[in-house]
Amino acid sequence: MSRTLCLTLVFLAGLCGSARVDAAEKPQPNIVFIFTDDLTCQAVSSYGDGRKLLDTPNFDRIGREGMRFDRCLVTNSICGPSRATILTGKYSHVNGFYNNSNSQFDGTQQTFPKLLQGAGYATAMIGKWHLGSNPTGFDEWHILPGQGIYYNPPMIHNGQRVKHAGYVSDIITDLSIEWLKTRDKSKPFLLMTQHKAPHREWAPALRHLGWDQDRKHQEPETLFDDFAGRSQAVRDHDMGIDRTFTDLDAKLVPPPGITPEQLKTWNAYYEPRNAAYREAKLTGKDLVRWRYQRYMHDYLGCVKGVDENVGRLLQFLDESGLAENTVVVFSSDQGFFLGEHGWFDKRWIFEESLRTPLMVRWPGVTSPKSVSNQIVSLIDFAGTFLEIAGQPVPADMQGRSLVPLLKGQTPADWRQSLYYHYYEFPVPHHVRPHRGVVTDRYKLVHYYKPDLDEWELLDRQADPLEVRNFHADPAYAETVKQLHRELERLRAEVKDTAEPPRAAYGNQPFANEKK
Ligand code: CA
Repeated sequence: MSRTLCLTLVFLAGLCGSARVDAAEKPQPNIVFIFTDDLTCQAVSSYGDGRKLLDTPNFDRIGREGMRFDRCLVTNSICGPSRATILTGKYSHVNGFYNNSNSQFDGTQQTFPKLLQGAGYATAMIGKWHLGSNPTGFDEWHILPGQGIYYNPPMIHNGQRVKHAGYVSDIITDLSIEWLKTRDKSKPFLLMTQHKAPHREWAPALRHLGWDQDRKHQEPETLFDDFAGRSQAVRDHDMGIDRTFTDLDAKLVPPPGITPEQLKTWNAYYEPRNAAYREAKLTGKDLVRWRYQRYMHDYLGCVKGVDENVGRLLQFLDESGLAENTVVVFSSDQGFFLGEHGWFDKRWIFEESLRTPLMVRWPGVTSPKSVSNQIVSLIDFAGTFLEIAGQPVPADMQGRSLVPLLKGQTPADWRQSLYYHYYEFPVPHHVRPHRGVVTDRYKLVHYYKPDLDEWELLDRQADPLEVRNFHADPAYAETVKQLHRELERLRAEVKDTAEPPRAAYGNQPFANEKK
């Protein structure tokens, strides 16, 4: 052996040795990403909105033992696009997944689970995937087909269709715990536990029917918003509790997949109440009020089921000794309207659907009971997970790692504004494509397609309910000018200056388009 080669080997052995020592001292952290669907801050007790809709002790525990982010915003407020943005750390126009109608995720592209898998992590994805193509980058995946159903959901396990009996949030948690028990224990791991609940049609577990003991839930101030002075885009919506609610939404018919035995319990709760409803023949505001109460019972009942299951997963981490070296990240794919503006659903740049819960517990790194008011986003998650794992963050990711914030150090140049772009139109809810810029106080919104060219300026400070448009108000002229410039700057920065492809909006023709 030559002297040079010998020295090289000694040097390499030394490096390996020191790496082993480092690993023994501080093994790479595991990551449990608990993700919900359509869970909004108004339904999480540590955020709340004054309505005190529900207690969520287990969600809140994650924030209390770590950091609660009070302004985590989405970039395109709808299920599939948010998921694609989380996986890639890129905007919809870059990762190619624009809408829930006709987008298909290109699973050959770079994602953070693939990068973690390549770095030696065991990886699993369990629950709602909703990206059209099969998951890539996971040692094991066990997903709901499409949206999935609440009762006795079929699932796809590594490509094989399987049946499950029971309630979806319980099943997803059982499978997650099972994977934690049986995984390759020689590796650090990434577990993505992705709940379907509380997505429409909001079917709670049988054990949660009647959870609120027929309490009257407080109505939001804007339940009967008349949209006076607002854009045509806002007035033309099709997501109102008054006009868009179906019998399935209202539980006047039972949810799919329920067994005859389960249906007996389901009917025992709903049927007497539905009979009284039919008898009352409600119309107008009375009908909206009845539907709002039914909606809150069902939506919040689903959230209660997720909260319990998050508690079970946290308990398993405690009891298995994993909690200490596991980062737990809890979030949702967007917010949701709980009757504000008379709406359910999401999509808009407005606060209820733009903002989403985010809590992170990182033992030994993030101080318990920390709160961050910085503007952060789902687009930051990919880089954050990679940095937690000690991996480099690829330069083409468009977000920014949250690790400095989690360490209690806000970088001086942290973002002061975020770019937003929603596409899907005209179905299912007739929300016009819009892009905008969001700052701590303002939102500048442009409804640009297909038959409108309207602007709105919202001021969270002067008008927290977001019922006024200040765009033409002379007092805001300078602000409007600055925000227009900021919007253009952000469009250039995220490379969203080109006209989106027609398919970005979905397959359905616009009113002025031939089929
Ligand atoms: Ca969603």
